[in-house]
Amino acid sequence: MKCQACNSEINNPSRFSYTPTTMDKLKLFDEREILCCPECGFGMIDQDVNDEVLAKYYHSEYSGKAKKRAETISIDVKTESSTDLRAISQLSLIQQYVELNNNSVILEIGAGAGGFLFALRKAGYQGRYIAVEPQSQAHSFLEKHGAEVEKQTYTVSLAKKYESQVDLVFMSHSLEHFNPTLIPGIVASVFSMLKEGGCFFCEVPNADIQKYPNAGERVVPHLSFFTEESLLSLFERLQFKIEFLKTCGQPQLEKDHQKQMQELQSGGYFEYEEDSETGILRNRKYHEYLELERGKQAKRQRRMLLLVSLLGYSRALKVLELLRKIKKPGAVRLLGSQVFHYGDDREFIRSIAVK
Ligand SMILES: [Zn+2]
Repeated sequence: MKCQACNSEINNPSRFSYTPTTMDKLKLFDEREILCCPECGFGMIDQDVNDEVLAKYYHSEYSGKAKKRAETISIDVKTESSTDLRAISQLSLIQQYVELNNNSVILEIGAGAGGFLFALRKAGYQGRYIAVEPQSQAHSFLEKHGAEVEKQTYTVSLAKKYESQVDLVFMSHSLEHFNPTLIPGIVASVFSMLKEGGCFFCEVPNADIQKYPNAGERVVPHLSFFTEESLLSLFERLQFKIEFLKTCGQPQLEKDHQKQMQELQSGGYFEYEEDSETGILRNRKYHEYLELERGKQAKRQRRMLLLVSLLGYSRALKVLELLRKIKKPGAVRLLGSQVFHYGDDREFIRSIAVK
């Protein structure tokens, strides 16, 4: 087999299993292995997962990060002082390499709840924004903030529509969800959408499984596992010029995932029951947790509705904004967050590649 990142022939890959998940999963993840390239460290699920099966899974209760569901319900009440640290830190990096103005065209693959778009709009960018996002709960928020929404999973054929038109392609925690055999084609299609000199911002987990076996990166439902070296050789192979590639966030070598797993195990967090209709394994504790979150969310919404009925919508938003403003830490305090810290062996790889 060939490594999809560095293209070298792999004879004896290291093999790893997926770690148990505290969320729902497809049964197939118990049977599949992750194969790692001895040259660049890139990890690949041993067999591509069927697109339809994946789509069904993503549309079920699975929610990326456990909190994402609650996030998508509350995105409508984002106000001036709402802060998404990851988005802010990404934007501050991008601005060092791309001169964004209102004529710039930005395309995001996997826009999710719209955190990056929101940060951009708050920073004053009024230009064209194309958001590729299949999750329907996110569409109204994205549209409200002036995005043209492509309501589908990104495919290489979509790229033809935007050939040589885009100044910045933004992809944050999305590439690792694609089947490994699709990766070179996706990155090549990003290249084709960019104008000459256009930028590709890409952030993925720093999933060097051989180097950090205990960092908890063998995670369901990721299908591709990037290392700094693999991302570097992938981009270079596809003619990108790399302007920036570094890791940020918490140090991977300080994590003790095994210990965490043992604690979860004894807490009964790995008990599943099969949904006979979809074949998805439902994690019992995860659904208890979702139920709890829904309760909290409902409470917050009731409070918000009461406020709206008393004051009207726009005044209620003003109150919300005022409360957030009071609670908000000072701007310099934000820099203490790990997402602003770059160095070796940290948990995310951030990169800027130029056409
Ligand atoms: Zn490789």
